[in-house]
Amino acid sequence: MTEKLYELNSYVRTFTALVEECVPHNNGYAVRLSRTAFFPEGGGQAADPGVLGGLTVKDVQLVEGEIWHYVQEPLLAGDEVEGVLDWETRFSRMRHHTAEHIVCSIAHRWHGLRNVGFHLGSEDVTLDLDGELTREQIDAIEDEANRVVAANVAVTATIPTAEELAKATYRSKKELDGEVRLVTIDGVDCCACCAPHVARTGEIGLIKLLDFIRYKGGVRIHLLCGEAALADYRLRYAQSAEISAKLSVKQYDLTAAVDRLLAEKDGLKLALRAANRRIADMQVAAVMPTDKPVYLVGEDWDTETLRRVVNGLTERCGGLCAAFSGSGGAYSYVLGGTGDIRAATAQMNAALNGRGGGDHRQSQGRVQATAEQIAAYWRQLGADE
Ligand SMILES: [Zn+2]
Repeated sequence: MTEKLYELNSYVRTFTALVEECVPHNNGYAVRLSRTAFFPEGGGQAADPGVLGGLTVKDVQLVEGEIWHYVQEPLLAGDEVEGVLDWETRFSRMRHHTAEHIVCSIAHRWHGLRNVGFHLGSEDVTLDLDGELTREQIDAIEDEANRVVAANVAVTATIPTAEELAKATYRSKKELDGEVRLVTIDGVDCCACCAPHVARTGEIGLIKLLDFIRYKGGVRIHLLCGEAALADYRLRYAQSAEISAKLSVKQYDLTAAVDRLLAEKDGLKLALRAANRRIADMQVAAVMPTDKPVYLVGEDWDTETLRRVVNGLTERCGGLCAAFSGSGGAYSYVLGGTGDIRAATAQMNAALNGRGGGDHRQSQGRVQATAEQIAAYWRQLGADE
């Protein structure tokens, strides 16, 4: 059995060990050591990165009770090798992991919720609880969690005897058999867990609970702490500062300012649509009454305006009437007329790579054609330029 150096002292970052076994594995090698400080993937936490005997440790897995370190080149059985953890990553994970214990213990104490999932690997750290919480409740948990950080209480890991364990009260994700490791946050929490944690809560720094979503009947909360929370704050601060400068409003007033902008945009949209309608009406009024096919092309006509134009043309003209709006190689259309226009619709769709339909009086759709192709088609139908 490999001695787990991380089990009782999570601050071991370099160590020496004997190579006990090295076997080929997936185009590389799997190494078993006499002892290790590398935490293998488990309980939602990724394996520790680092270097072993000068080789990059690509992964660490616990397989049938044995810890295997995966490296690219072979190490010689019997040799003494040095292991060096990527301490920045490991320490950050210790902080996030301890923060998770604090947050879950408060959610459990206040709301009776159980921690049913945890993910700690990439930059995104999430924890799952088996019941719903509101933003206000999450904010209150966050406040309390940060009070536990400020109190700087001790965090200890112990492996109790079966007798001690029987008497202990602790949180656990599942029924445990065999050796149980208890992580105690003094006066706050006791939880069965095999991962490394910090020694005092003050090391965690700020705990920030970010977005949360409903997940499997409960909530999934995104969590950041320490430098990662600071980096996130810095980015968000820079963004609000930039937006506040652009809008010339105070940072605390951004939401109201954006609401005003959106309302203004909606107003402009309505005004633009009304202006486009007036232009469309003027274009219709300028068409000389005729029994030949007629069509008009607008730049930014919505379906309602296209219909309005076709209705206007149909009142003035006796033949096929159409309105187009679009740009480049795609135009929306409405087709109408005094007679049955179904055949004309099918014909135009076929000629201009279009789709759409309607009844005998009016149809609508889209053609994949340029303005020139539309003009050529209507010219051959007999329309004037
Ligand atoms: Zn833990």
